Amino acid sequence: MSRKRRPDGPPAPLPGVIDAHAHTWSRELQPDHDEVMQRAWATGLAGVIEVGVDTDTSMQCLDLARRDPRVHAVAGLHPHDAQHLEHERAGLEALVAGGGFVGIGETGLDFHYNHSPPEAQIQAFRWQLDLAREHELPVVIHAREADEACFELLEAWSRRVGRYLGAGRAIGMMHCYAGDVALAERYLEIGLLISVPGVVTYPSNARGQQVAAKIRLAGLLVETDCPYLTPVPYRRARNEPAYVAETARFVAALRGVDPEVVVRATAENTARLFDFPGPTETGAQHDDGHDPRR
Ligand SMILES: [Zn+2]
Repeated sequence: MSRKRRPDGPPAPLPGVIDAHAHTWSRELQPDHDEVMQRAWATGLAGVIEVGVDTDTSMQCLDLARRDPRVHAVAGLHPHDAQHLEHERAGLEALVAGGGFVGIGETGLDFHYNHSPPEAQIQAFRWQLDLAREHELPVVIHAREADEACFELLEAWSRRVGRYLGAGRAIGMMHCYAGDVALAERYLEIGLLISVPGVVTYPSNARGQQVAAKIRLAGLLVETDCPYLTPVPYRRARNEPAYVAETARFVAALRGVDPEVVVRATAENTARLFDFPGPTETGAQHDDGHDPRR
């Protein structure tokens, strides 16, 4: 097998792509954060969703969003840190009540690592679902080795809030989705979009590639989850938002369509989910199957 050398420069430009899940506030990206974002904008990135994992990092997301209209902030408590709910609750509630956030998360369940006990994770997850409902915001979900438990909680929640928050707006996204096509369809059915991370480009990831190739475009997002999970050909380097272009290109090749098709659909899906103006917002409305359940 021939191994391609990692390129020295950023990806070729792919205008309009949106990174649906990033943590550029992370320690790994702090030393040269300005350069990281410059590279991303130069690659044609049209937007990035910055996601917090506790009160402090959610505040950092909000700071980033206030400095650039292309940046949008999500506030929440990560399942790894769920055991600190009592310590974080008041701060996060006040922060979200102050406004400026487009979603709640990342929350969910991680029964692989169990950095927090499962009961604490479920409690923090339920609390954030209530918080999202109260503020009419979508949720950003992390699920690892907790497929059925996660689905059950979200299905019950979707019965309370409905499948849409209004105007074709889904109720959340499965960040870094790692399940199969059948489960993805079940999530789409209850109003959660499927976000494809850089690991889809790894040769061994047949299941992820099947999901990215098969689910309807109206239900698809692309993300980096930077600084982790760097796509080929940058694998093993630190991940950054510019690299979401490689993931979008790879997904387009899997589906046999031009990259622009995937870029446009995923950008519109992300913008609609988090309720900010999308790429075609200024143009005429057209019905090309935005119902993610179709
Ligand atoms: Zn994340």
